[in-house]
Amino acid sequence: MTLTDTPNDLKPEEVNASLEGASPDRIIQWAAGHFGNDLVMWSSFGAESALLIHMATRVLPDIRIIMIDTGYLFPETHQFMEQLRRRFDLNVWTYRTKNDPIAYLHQSGEDNPTWRKDIEACCAINKNEPTERAMRELSPKAWLRGIRRNQADTRRNKAIVEWSARYSAYGISPLLNWTGREIYAYMKANNLPYHPLYEKGYASIGCNPLSCTRPIQPGEDPRAGRWSGQDKVECGININTSLDSSQL
Ligand code: SF4
Repeated sequence: MTLTDTPNDLKPEEVNASLEGASPDRIIQWAAGHFGNDLVMWSSFGAESALLIHMATRVLPDIRIIMIDTGYLFPETHQFMEQLRRRFDLNVWTYRTKNDPIAYLHQSGEDNPTWRKDIEACCAINKNEPTERAMRELSPKAWLRGIRRNQADTRRNKAIVEWSARYSAYGISPLLNWTGREIYAYMKANNLPYHPLYEKGYASIGCNPLSCTRPIQPGEDPRAGRWSGQDKVECGININTSLDSSQL
């Protein structure tokens, strides 16, 4: 199979037509039934990450969870991951940047650790590279991701099941049609914790430089705090093309 071929036992158009109105639970059940242990998931251990982890591990308790450590995560993110790992006995696979975080700043001319001048370059080498490495080494046939259509314009036209030539796997988005209200209701009903920074106004949580993550003000879009003031809404890992730093 070449990178642009899709496995011929699955017809995404037909699957998407049948899953479009399905609950996240049903979508995960379908994915687990179709891909079994070749299904992994991504988690940033961000604001609402406990939700998809909870849903997925109820169906596949030992599912491999890929976590990317860019070297610039908040300490609270590591603590949160440990909290969830213990509570749900998670099978987390952490993939780290190959760069020493301090050395990278020096080598790339980033003189202020709290601000990135060249976000595209930093995301390409510290986030996208370990993500591609993880997908190459674990070579799953599909992965679960937590994106939602109402988070960003770049996500509005996503399908629940999408072939990714970049990762040679299907990206499956069980929460694609969920609203913030539904997320909140599920979190509450299942007594799931939010990331510790959530209550401090961080609605979407990535890396710690202020150029990359900041708290939002009341009424702001939840993702307004990511790369605030920049023409950027994605770190690039959800873009379905081969890594090209000019596109990230
Ligand atoms: S989000 Fe910021 S710190 Fe993290 S990899 Fe991208 S540019 Fe670097």
